[in-house]
Amino acid sequence: MQLLKEKILSEGRVVGEEILKVDSFLNHQLDVELLQAIGQEFHRRFGHKKITKILTIEASGIGIAAIAATYFKVPVVFAKKVQSRNLDKETFKTQVYSFTKQTNYDVQVSKRYMNSSDQILILDDFLANGRAALGLIDLVEQAGASVAGVGIVIEKSFQEGGQLLREKNIHLESLAVVNRFVNGQVTFLG
Ligand code: 5GP
Repeated sequence: MQLLKEKILSEGRVVGEEILKVDSFLNHQLDVELLQAIGQEFHRRFGHKKITKILTIEASGIGIAAIAATYFKVPVVFAKKVQSRNLDKETFKTQVYSFTKQTNYDVQVSKRYMNSSDQILILDDFLANGRAALGLIDLVEQAGASVAGVGIVIEKSFQEGGQLLREKNIHLESLAVVNRFVNGQVTFLG
């Protein structure tokens, strides 16, 4: 997606060997027009499939999923990371290793909001080693629902997530695929 690549090149900041910071449009401040274009692009790639719900993970996935949902016209469910008294007792629950925080955390979805008749599109901001996406797939499987696909805004191809998902025959669509970082500059695959 050309617009997204241009935004990454002009505003993305490479931190260390593996992290791309995109706080000015995706992870802190949100460029809503860009998110609309991202939502339309996900719809172009997955809109032919029967999708009943979009699933994402808090916090950064929520804005992306909510705007994409206006094109799919389905509800968004986001997996919660924080235990709260407000969360239903009956949940699907799994553990995810956080790439950015380097620790394990639980993610949960109330059993009210996913069931075996659902066809779920999973959306997230980044794909690195695939732990967040695999955790969300686990929640969908616990519900007996099916994964219609996984849509990612930025995939880093030098980490294993993309390969792991493709090996599981998941329909994966990444809107920008970062190949590597050369002297703090981003290069894309294709
Ligand atoms: P994974 O679970 O695939 O290893 O990592 C994906 C999650 O970690 C994403 O939900 C995202 O929040 C975070 N993440 C991974 N790599 C990056 C990165 O380069 N930049 C940012 N901003 N977040 C990342």
